[in-house]
Parts: sequence; structure tokens; C-alpha cells
Amino acid sequence: MNRGGILRRLLLSHIGVALSSLLTIMLLVNAVVTISFRFYIEDQREADAEYWAAQLATYYDNSNKWTTADLMDISHQAMMQHYHVRIYDTKQTLLWDTRTMNMPIEPEDSLTGNSQPIGGDSAISKEISKEGRVFGILQLTNMDNFYQQQDQRFLQMFNRLSWAALAVVLLGVYFFSRYVAKGISNPLIQIKQIAVRMRKGDLTQRVKSSGVRTEIEEVGLALNHLADGLVQQDKLRKNLTADIAHEWRTPLATIQSHIEAFQDGVWDVTPEKLEICHQQVIRLVQLIHDLEKLTDAENPMIQLKKDNICLNRILRDSINATVGQFPDSTISLRFHEDHEVYMIGDADRLVQVFVNLLNNAYKYTAEGCIDIVLAENQTQITVSIKDTGVGIEPGELPYIFERFYRGDKSRNRKTGGAGIGLAVVKAIVETHGGSVTVNSRPWQGTEFAVRFPK
Ligand code: ADP
Repeated sequence: MNRGGILRRLLLSHIGVALSSLLTIMLLVNAVVTISFRFYIEDQREADAEYWAAQLATYYDNSNKWTTADLMDISHQAMMQHYHVRIYDTKQTLLWDTRTMNMPIEPEDSLTGNSQPIGGDSAISKEISKEGRVFGILQLTNMDNFYQQQDQRFLQMFNRLSWAALAVVLLGVYFFSRYVAKGISNPLIQIKQIAVRMRKGDLTQRVKSSGVRTEIEEVGLALNHLADGLVQQDKLRKNLTADIAHEWRTPLATIQSHIEAFQDGVWDVTPEKLEICHQQVIRLVQLIHDLEKLTDAENPMIQLKKDNICLNRILRDSINATVGQFPDSTISLRFHEDHEVYMIGDADRLVQVFVNLLNNAYKYTAEGCIDIVLAENQTQITVSIKDTGVGIEPGELPYIFERFYRGDKSRNRKTGGAGIGLAVVKAIVETHGGSVTVNSRPWQGTEFAVRFPK
């Protein structure tokens, strides 16, 4: 397992996310700070200009002119706030300029003629007036881009801190990615090791569950299910071989002993003895026939010849085929049908299902009756076959659908088959998307319910 591969990918994606988000934040903050700083400066300048214009108006109002002390006072205040100040009279003649801290060097300098902002920042002009009387104009300009420098200093500091934060984040991302990569790759490594062991035939190991439901956890659980399934299949395969050997041993031993007795002259070849051999051969042929049916029904690639079929007709055909096999039976058989029920399915295989179930009902019922009920609702079709026979022990119920399983070993072999019938029923019903369930109580009877979705 290439842990480096996962780490590299995680690192790249985490670094990508961290870088892009940090750079976006830096850009946004730069833009927001620059713009809001501008607005703040504008507002501040507006307020200052208003304040000093009001003060100048008061000075003028008191003595009908501005003394140098008045102008020096305002200039001092303004310069403390990093402003250049110009004051014009009502004829727009420059009266005062803080650059010279005096009357203008060139008296003709006017507001319109020389109103270029000092130091590059735009100037702001305010009327100096009181109660409708205008005394002049006050012009404020920021000194040497003072606020721009402040603004720049703040942004520089912010950017420097952001780069430092980026370095810390990258370090954090590295350790975080390592931690996450380990969290992902460790269970994957475990899954891979178990899969390799399974490939080598060791089906004893299982992926340990962490209790947290993640996709990787589900892969592990799926592998565990696969291992369980393989163990089960292995067991079935071994059982199947043992069962086939067991089934064949008795008839073959009987035939062998008879032929050897004939050869040695111990027995004469009589029609009775030949009949015994014939019966055993028939049993072997029947067994092979059953096995073929089972292999066919359990084949996952089974091809159903699907048609729109009438289940009532299928059940009637099945009843006719079964009743003929038990001519001496005294059991009464009742078929409860309301209306015609149709479904999409393979007629021949469904007849096989119901013949098997009816056969069992006859085989395991000495007296009483067999009830067949065909019903349907919005979602499913149900066929129930209920008998009043010997029933099945609760302990045997989980196994009766397994291949070669036969209940109650003491039961007469003549009535029992090879234990394949219900396995065939289950395989065919499930291929139709349906299910088969059993409900039984010993010595009271058994009910099989076959359900098909609609
Ligand atoms: P078998 O050839 O033995 O009938 P099946 O697969 O058809 O094989 O059935 C498996 C076992 O289920 C039987 O051996 C029997 O014990 C039990 N069984 C099936 N159908 C019935 C029934 N209608 N009544 C009682 N037992 C039944």
C-alpha cells in the first residue's frame, strides 16, 4: 500500500485549499482596508474642515477680520493633524498658507488659480460662514500623503503577518495531512493484507471494525461478508461431496453385493433380486436427475423463459401433476382462488416449485387436508400451501432449504427424497425476485408461503 501516494494527494489538496483561501482573504482585506481607510480619512477631513471653518467664522465674527494669532492657532491645530491649510477671502484671494506660515508670497494666488492639492491628495474646501454671512474659504490638504503612509504601513504589517500565518498553516497542513493519510491508509493496509491472505486460502482473518461507519469501514465489512460467504461455500462444497458420496454408497454397495453373489453362484439370478438391483439403479438415476435440477436452478446465470402467466393455471397444472403420483392418498386437497392472478414468470419452473411443495405436503401428511390459497394485494402475490402433516421440529426449520438436508433421519426413506426439493424451490423463487417462508409445528402441520413482488 502506497501511503506516500495518499499523503502526497492530501498534502497537495490541503495546501491548495489553504493557499487559495489565505490569498483570497489577503486580497479582500487589502481591498477592504484600502477602501475603508479612504472613506475614514475623507470623513475625518470633512469633520475637521467643518470644525476649523466654524472656529474661523467665530474669530471673524468677533473682530471683523482674522488676526495672525487666529490664523496661527488654526494652522497649529491643523498641522498637528497633518494637514496643510489655505485660507481665501470671499474674493478667492489667498490669505494664508501653512506652507509659508504667512501671507502668500504671491498675493494674486487664488483659489481657482492654485487649488492643486499639496502632496498629491485631493483638497477639501469649506465655506467659512456664520448665520448666512460668508467670510472666506478654508482648504485642507493632507500633509505628504500622511494617511496613505499610515494605510500602507498597516497593510504591510497585515501582509507580513499573513505570510507568517501561511507558514504556520502549511506546517499544520503537513502534520494534519500525515494524520489523515495514516487514518485512511491504515485500514486499507489491513484490508489489503486480509485480501492477500484470502487469496492464499486463509479465510480465518477478518477486518476489525472501528465502529465508525465510513466508506472504508464498509469495504472492510464487505470483505468480511465475502470471507463468510467463501467459508459457507467451502462448507457446502465439502458437504455436497460428502452427501453425494453418502447417497451413492448404499445403492452401489447393494448392486455390487448382488452382482458378486451372482458371480460367485451364491445367489441365483431371480426376477426379485434383479428388481432390487433395478430399484437401486433407478434411485441413482433419480439422484443424478435431482442434482441436475438443482445445479440448473441454482445457476446464477439461469435464463428464465418469462411470460405473462396465469398463476391459477400454473397451480392447477401442479395439482394435477402431483395428485397423479399419490393415487392411494385419502388426503383432501382444496384450492382457494378468488380471481385470476397474473404475473411475469417462467411457467415450467414455477410448476416445478409448486409440484415440489405439493409433493412434500403429500409425503409428510398421513391424513387430513392440504389447502392451497392464492391471493394478491397491491404489492405482492402470495401462494400458501398448508398441510396437516407431521410438521417440522423448530430446530430443523433453519436448515430445510439447504441442499441435501433431510429432517428427522428416522423418517422412512421411501417418503423422503434426497433433500433437494426445497433447495430447488428456493433457488427458482428467488430467481423470480420472490421469497419463500415456512411456518410449522410438529404434528400439527406445515405452511409454506411463496411471495412474488408485483
Ligand atoms: P426431501 O427430499 O427430503 O423432501 P426437501 O428439500 O423437499 O427434501 O425437504 C427437506 C426437509 O424438509 C424434508 O426432509 C422434511 O424434513 C422437511 N419438509 C419439507 N416439507 C415438509 C412438509 N410439508 N411437512 C413436514 N416436513 C417437511
